[in-house]
Amino acid sequence: MLGRSSSPRFEHAKGRLHPLKHSTTGRRPDSVRRSGGAVASLSFGDLRIEGSSRAGDETWIRLHPPGLAFDVGRGALELSGARDLFLSHGHLDHALGVPWLLSLGVMHSAGPTRVLCPAAAAADLEALIEAAARLEQATYKFELQPLEAGDRVEVGRDLEVEAFAVDHVVPALGYHLLRHKRRLAEKYRGLSSEDVARLKKSGSAVEEVALEIWVSYCGDTGPQVFELEPRLFESQVLLLECTFLHSDRRTHSADFKHIHFEDLVDRAERFRNRALVLHHLSRRHSVSDLRAAIEERLPALSERIHLLGG
Ligand SMILES: [Zn+2]
Repeated sequence: MLGRSSSPRFEHAKGRLHPLKHSTTGRRPDSVRRSGGAVASLSFGDLRIEGSSRAGDETWIRLHPPGLAFDVGRGALELSGARDLFLSHGHLDHALGVPWLLSLGVMHSAGPTRVLCPAAAAADLEALIEAAARLEQATYKFELQPLEAGDRVEVGRDLEVEAFAVDHVVPALGYHLLRHKRRLAEKYRGLSSEDVARLKKSGSAVEEVALEIWVSYCGDTGPQVFELEPRLFESQVLLLECTFLHSDRRTHSADFKHIHFEDLVDRAERFRNRALVLHHLSRRHSVSDLRAAIEERLPALSERIHLLGG
């Protein structure tokens, strides 16, 4: 989430909310909108990503498979039925939806939900959930699992999530979705399919399992994350925040520990990902401004960059 002073989108006067007049910073009319952004759906082979993200508004991502959530925004119906909710940090634009989703689970008589979060945020998150349950006089079915960087959690057949360290102003983690890919063992690769079938029949282990970083999600982070977790450059699909755009915002970006577009330009050669999904854009900037900046400053990456957030 951004600091309070960073998104003065409304002024409160006479009990009503009035949009502020636009300054001359080039902001477009769509930078002042009601909360709740557009939901995007992106497909990359077997993977489908659904989500919505705008800085300070809300950020949530759902991955299919396995149906888990990376952050929950302020609560979105699209997250209903997700068994695992991985929270990157406690800022409310990423985490407030937890009690609402647990409440929805009670209404739908759903099974227990696992809520996984940075260990340092677990006690406060638990207190928030318990207060909500008391308020509703309801019993939520959930299991809170505190995580540290390096911890791994099984989330489906051949799928695990691994937590990694990021660089934000409150305790925070990023998450890799790891996929175990079965493939023919290297020593058998020159053989015909008949020979492989014969070996298999005779009981030989002809397969080996390779671990692939299928998706990486950084949550909110400053650019230090690239030093903390260089495997980000190798991930198949990298979900990366990109909050600020124009050069006058770079110090702002550093103060609030967010990624500035120039941080990506500085590292343009290192991104080996099949797809980069940028999200968490400040409402100060329009999506079309970001797209124009990509075409101009990151032409070699442009085809691989997708945007999430309306
Ligand atoms: Zn944040």
